[in-house]
Amino acid sequence: MKNKRILEKAYDPTPVEEKWSTYWIDEGLFIPEVPSSKKVFSMVLPPPNVTGSLHMGHALCFTLPDIIVRWRRMQGYNTLWLPGTDHASIAVHNVIEQSLEEKGLTREKVGREEFLKIAWDWKNKYGGVIINQLKKLGTSLDWSRERFTLDKGFSRAVRHVFVDLYDEGLIYRDYYLVNRCPHCGTVLSDIEIEHKEKQAKLYTIKYPLLNSKESITVATTRPETMLGDTAVAVHPDDERFTQFQGKTVLLPLVNREIPVITDERVEMDFGTGAVKVTPAHDPVDFELGKQHNLEQVIVIDGSGKMTEEAGEEFKGLDRFECREKVLSKLEEMGFLEKTEDYQHSVGHCYRCQTVIEPYLSWQWFVRIEPLAKEAIRVVEEGEIEFIPPNWAKTYFEWMYNIHDWCISRQLWWGHRIPAWYCKECDHIMVAMEAPQKCEKCQGSALVQEEDVLDTWFSSALWPFVTMGWPEETDDLKTFYPTDLMSTGFDIIFFWVARMIMMGLKFARDIPFRHVYINGLVRDFKRRKMSKSEGNIIDPLEMIDKYGTDALRFTMAALAIPGADISLSEERMAGYRAFANKIWNASRFVLMSLESEEFQAKEEELTLADRWIRSRLAEITAELNDALEQYKFYDAADKIYHFIWHEFCDWYIELVKPDLKAGNKTSEAVLAETLDHILRLLHPFMPYITEEIWKYLPLSGKSLVTASFPQEDKNLKDKKAEKEMKYLQEAIIGVRTIRAENRIPPKQKIELWIKVKKDEEKRLILDNQTYIQTLANIRRIETLDQFPDEKKLLKGVAGSWEIAIPIEEGVFNLKQEKQRLDKELAKITQDIERIEKRLQNTDFLKHAPKNVIQETKGRVQELQVKKAKLEESLEHILSLI
Ligand SMILES: [Zn+2]
Ligand SMILES: [Zn+2]
Repeated sequence: MKNKRILEKAYDPTPVEEKWSTYWIDEGLFIPEVPSSKKVFSMVLPPPNVTGSLHMGHALCFTLPDIIVRWRRMQGYNTLWLPGTDHASIAVHNVIEQSLEEKGLTREKVGREEFLKIAWDWKNKYGGVIINQLKKLGTSLDWSRERFTLDKGFSRAVRHVFVDLYDEGLIYRDYYLVNRCPHCGTVLSDIEIEHKEKQAKLYTIKYPLLNSKESITVATTRPETMLGDTAVAVHPDDERFTQFQGKTVLLPLVNREIPVITDERVEMDFGTGAVKVTPAHDPVDFELGKQHNLEQVIVIDGSGKMTEEAGEEFKGLDRFECREKVLSKLEEMGFLEKTEDYQHSVGHCYRCQTVIEPYLSWQWFVRIEPLAKEAIRVVEEGEIEFIPPNWAKTYFEWMYNIHDWCISRQLWWGHRIPAWYCKECDHIMVAMEAPQKCEKCQGSALVQEEDVLDTWFSSALWPFVTMGWPEETDDLKTFYPTDLMSTGFDIIFFWVARMIMMGLKFARDIPFRHVYINGLVRDFKRRKMSKSEGNIIDPLEMIDKYGTDALRFTMAALAIPGADISLSEERMAGYRAFANKIWNASRFVLMSLESEEFQAKEEELTLADRWIRSRLAEITAELNDALEQYKFYDAADKIYHFIWHEFCDWYIELVKPDLKAGNKTSEAVLAETLDHILRLLHPFMPYITEEIWKYLPLSGKSLVTASFPQEDKNLKDKKAEKEMKYLQEAIIGVRTIRAENRIPPKQKIELWIKVKKDEEKRLILDNQTYIQTLANIRRIETLDQFPDEKKLLKGVAGSWEIAIPIEEGVFNLKQEKQRLDKELAKITQDIERIEKRLQNTDFLKHAPKNVIQETKGRVQELQVKKAKLEESLEHILSLI
């Protein structure tokens, strides 16, 4: 029975994508075997924020590893790609607090318990948005193992890690500067602060040296903080201050003796070059103070009022009132040297626009150095490899200069710190579960720490907690360490480094072997995509317009390691055209297949068959090689050109006469090649390949689990490739002569080829059907020499000289001369017109430089064209 397999006329991605997405998941094709004796490949998904919406950065960061995992799965690896989402404390707070604000509420008004209830309701309702968008990308994730960084298992694991680190002395409490809004009475995270340029004043103040007539001057925008100064700092290389180094100054108004210290971080060209240091009220000074062991004197409290430490005169004043008073006092006493206008950026509360105040308070820290040591070693010794490798340098720079990690956040949504304070004796207890009474004084009035952990604390545990840690699960034994982590360069420190440290510490091994660092997705002019620029390309919109496969292929084709991606919609339109090309070619192939079973007989193989098999073997090797090295762009480029320019443009055309002649071997090679191509392309374009593949006779359950082709060296045939190259050159040569001389493609012509050797002659005669079919030739003649008396259109085809005899009806010399004359006249006119413009001084004066440059280029182009036309005309005249 002839079972004609007919694909729809045009490819419509949407229904196909929906069908296979569901099928793959329903059939459990992304779920690995556990336990298993097969070789293993595993990854964990960088968990997107629950508040997130899919953007191009995600599309890139999720598509590339999906290509790898699909390829490995097809190669027979037992693969796991584990998904999930991050609870994203700050982002969720922003969402919930904004909705509260609309109702005239604040989180303090509703209280912790009610707030968390609202947040969970929100998460349950909207947290799946990003997950569904992720599924649209065709990512082959094992959804049966989906995790959330705030789920029960995570909470336990986080407490476990916290308690262990605390018991080992690697977690401690210390004073730290946080940003606080004195009006709202809350601490703000960095992203909750709006920075605004403000017109302000810069005040220069004299600080007299102790027991000396000399003084050192400092500049500040916040004179009221001088009451809390505990040092003056200068740059060690600043010669203006060499004499002051190590001396003591007497702080005006306060009369505190403070040292003059040196620090590389002092900017010599700011103000006077000497700066006042207020560790309790400025983040830079805070760091400086820690390093130089300076006292922290708190002169402003949490509500923006001056404290007792500010002195009798100022205590209780609002910070801005205090500023005025300090200034007038300084002026009165002759310490204020000058006041200048000054513009600078000032942080404001995003909610009430009050100027934020740096505020010293108790925070929790991880002592990081002992953890960093191992994490540096594993990268140095190559156990973990960065791709591209230069990112390892960035990693080392951070790791060698690492500071202790402040892990407490003044938020509610997150992992609440498992520490309890005894109200009676202030004793602190850190434990997995709430203690019943104080272990020191036996009192029962205990309160839990209000703060939650930094979101990165839990995501640092992601690679092993998702696999069931601290239980010794089969998943952990089978899939940890993972093979690959694909992420952005901006979180190498926040996330990658911390996963390495925590993985080594708690799962006792590296979390992943390779770290692939993605570039940034920019627009086609290489600008950053942003709302304000209006140049954001939305991946979901692109999927609707061009299909997921086109989007995925674009990501792969543009992914050059170490380079940013310059994205344009045209590129995606181009790969949709590629999908359509594959569809149409497959449609033809499927309709041409008469058999149900295929067997290529060695002795029946044509040159075209041997050639395509050889090329396919080559491409297969190159593709596997490129993916081994994460050269996505290279892999994409190779498969694209092979499919379009070798399979579609040549092989399908070459095989047509053989199919017509009923050559079963060619039919088999055609079917086998399409099957092979679909497998190679599947990791990049999973949907269209699966759809077409299911139409092929003898296809299996799904391409997802079909085998990925390996290079078959037996199919390599250098001779066939060389011979095919000659034939292709001959065909291209004829097509060029036709085009140059306006011979219609449908016009059958005669072709003469000059050959020197017998084997060349045999090659042409054995394969003349190919040339005849593809170049529409009536008759081919091979000659040693072209006869002089005959009028010929000559050309070169690779190493051969070819010619087309001018015959009646083939080529009208007079008509061609007329056409050339006309074209030549027009081009001459054009050149004159543009040259006139270039002589116009007005134009040269006012036109933009690039326009003038382009105009000059245009003239040159036209002159080249003109020369060609003249040459053709001369040739025609010689023939008439
Ligand atoms: Zn505020
Ligand atoms: Zn106690």
